[in-house]
Amino acid sequence: MTTRLSTRAVHGGRQDFLKLGVHAPPLDLSSTYPFADLDLATASLESLAGGAASAAMPIYSRLHNPTVARFERALTELEGAEDAVAFGSGMAAITAVLLAARERGRHVVAIRPIYGGTDHLLGSGLLGMRVTWATPDTVTSAITADTALVVMETPANPTMAMVDIALVVEAAGAVPVMVDSTFATPILQQPLRHGAAFSLHSATKFLGGHGDVLGGVVATSEEHAAALRRVRIVTGGVLHPLAGYLLHRGLPTLPVRVLAQQEHARVLAGRLTDHAEVVEVAYPGLPGQDPDGLIGRQMAGPGSLLAFRVRGGYEAACQVLRQVRLITPAVSLGSVDSLIQHPAGLTHHIVDPEARESEGIGPDLLRLSVGLEDPEDLWEDLDRALVASVATPMAGAAGG
Ligand SMILES: *Cc1c(COP(=O)(O)O)cnc(C)c1O
Repeated sequence: MTTRLSTRAVHGGRQDFLKLGVHAPPLDLSSTYPFADLDLATASLESLAGGAASAAMPIYSRLHNPTVARFERALTELEGAEDAVAFGSGMAAITAVLLAARERGRHVVAIRPIYGGTDHLLGSGLLGMRVTWATPDTVTSAITADTALVVMETPANPTMAMVDIALVVEAAGAVPVMVDSTFATPILQQPLRHGAAFSLHSATKFLGGHGDVLGGVVATSEEHAAALRRVRIVTGGVLHPLAGYLLHRGLPTLPVRVLAQQEHARVLAGRLTDHAEVVEVAYPGLPGQDPDGLIGRQMAGPGSLLAFRVRGGYEAACQVLRQVRLITPAVSLGSVDSLIQHPAGLTHHIVDPEARESEGIGPDLLRLSVGLEDPEDLWEDLDRALVASVATPMAGAAGG
């Protein structure tokens, strides 16, 4: 039976409940699994070590965990993928995609801006991969015979710049493209439908949605998934079963959370645009901010993340962070509660300062993840914090 997205969000990974006689997924915390038959155990081990999604028995929780596998199946359905592989964090997922790519070559082409951790990992050469930074227009010329992967993020962290996935896929030719789709979630964007080989999420963000779980997941083809599992088994970047349980539990409400948070973000983005203390607002849903018409074609809506520049520069940005009462000053995003942070000082602090400046990640920029609170309460909080940012004697003194 083919079903629609919100139905899949509710029922994904739960198809065997009637047979099992349960209404909530079993949480399997076993680290190891007893075997009655050594031959069967050896065959299972061989098959899991080869990258199979499941085997006759799990053997050991680093090889397979039934609770995590349920979350993976649910995510697979949401992304329209063949398979999905979960990891202990978004960075563990990105690391696995890079390590698996080493079979094809040692060179990565990556489009900036991108999450600070990914930028740092690629730039550090830690995994033995060289990076060439590109724009969507220079991807083709950056590709060499040794290029194993093209990495992109859309909408990009923290500037909300949108990149045309299909265009990058075309420019990449035979080289697989990985899209970090964390900001969009599978509710607003399904990169594999536009030709990407990997759709990656920091599950810590919207998929978990309640700020209490760290995880990562990659939706992809069966073949790429097997390679990722082989990497996961030997590097051990597994998702804890309790995290898998919580992530699976969060999926049924993902569509309503994403859409409601998006509506709240639309309200705040519009009002921030008109605020005297705000210089500029970056939000794909504002007029003129989707020049390539990607909303509707690639993304179902602009999402609930926005970034804005405050008039008084760094000092004013600090004041806003000190003055908010309802909105929490903290990194991370996609939670049911609103979070505000300073990219240049936190999430993108480890990025090369020149690249940071040229991507527009300046000292006056704040990033807001809009939650499920009443938007009128959020607006009162933001407006008061912005007004207070000028009322304080220090404000504007540094000017930049
Ligand atoms: C948070 C984040 C990551 C890293 O994920 P962790 O779960 O923190 O390891 C990667 N990409 C994007 C876009 C993110 O926001």
